[in-house]
Amino acid sequence: MCDNWRKQFAESPDCLKSARLQQTIVRVLDLEIGGGEFITMAGPCSVETEFQLMATASHVRRAGARVLRGGAFKPRSSPYAFQGLGLEGLKMLARAREECGLAIVTEVMSEGDVPLVAEYADILQIGSRSMENFSLLEAAAHSGRPVLLKRGMVATITDLLRSAQCILDHGNPQVIFCERGIRTFETAMRNSFDAAGIALLKQITHLPVIADPSHAAGHRELVPALARIGVAAGADGLLVEVHPNPDKSWSDGEQSLDFAEFDAMMAALGPWIELRSRELGEREAAGVRPMEVAG
Ligand code: PEP
Ligand code: MN
Repeated sequence: MCDNWRKQFAESPDCLKSARLQQTIVRVLDLEIGGGEFITMAGPCSVETEFQLMATASHVRRAGARVLRGGAFKPRSSPYAFQGLGLEGLKMLARAREECGLAIVTEVMSEGDVPLVAEYADILQIGSRSMENFSLLEAAAHSGRPVLLKRGMVATITDLLRSAQCILDHGNPQVIFCERGIRTFETAMRNSFDAAGIALLKQITHLPVIADPSHAAGHRELVPALARIGVAAGADGLLVEVHPNPDKSWSDGEQSLDFAEFDAMMAALGPWIELRSRELGEREAAGVRPMEVAG
């Protein structure tokens, strides 16, 4: 890594690659995130009903997803909008894990909810709006669960690394970055997908990086293209919103894929993921990217 970057990110030394640590692998159930296999996390924006969640879980599982996403505690622009099912939603997620064998990622919004969410989830999601809530990060770190840290919508890479460093400082090495688009002057998309940010994170840090094309795009038509760009930029996996009937979704319907669209996206990603595996294999064989396990 060049010295300029080392200087620029000097506040987050433990996030940076070193001779000792080239790549962290986060283990969740039987999965290795950051370990070479491309991991797709998919599911609805919010957990709504038993039928909605179970139908989505079994469909995305068949299509190749390994992790089920779904919010039980939802950060919304309005306090009067649907806020999530809370505990009832967490219980549905746990039932979906039992039935489909998918690991669960779900958001935790407040420090006080961390023990409850950690009891049901395999990975705690820290949402974009919470990325700089350091007391939440500390509580999430202490839960011992892996943390999917979403980039704040106005956060720089420096800010993102600082938040990851906070989790590492509190004794939890299992941090996964998630690039989900940032606010720019462009208004055609919900956010601007920072593919260069993914490439940079993969070069400078040893932590896994997940791309979220759904929140970046805000429009379902764009999600497959952004997913391919995420793979090409070097992401270790995807986080994608899928719903049985997106137009009836209680949140983020415009950016959610229906089942046929998800299948088509996964099929189109196949060659890109194969190319990625081939390149990773070649680099490893050349000794460029030795794997080291943490967690
Ligand atoms: C979500 O994943 O549904 C979500 C609210 O994402 P973000 O925090 O990136 O807006
Ligand atoms: Mn959403």
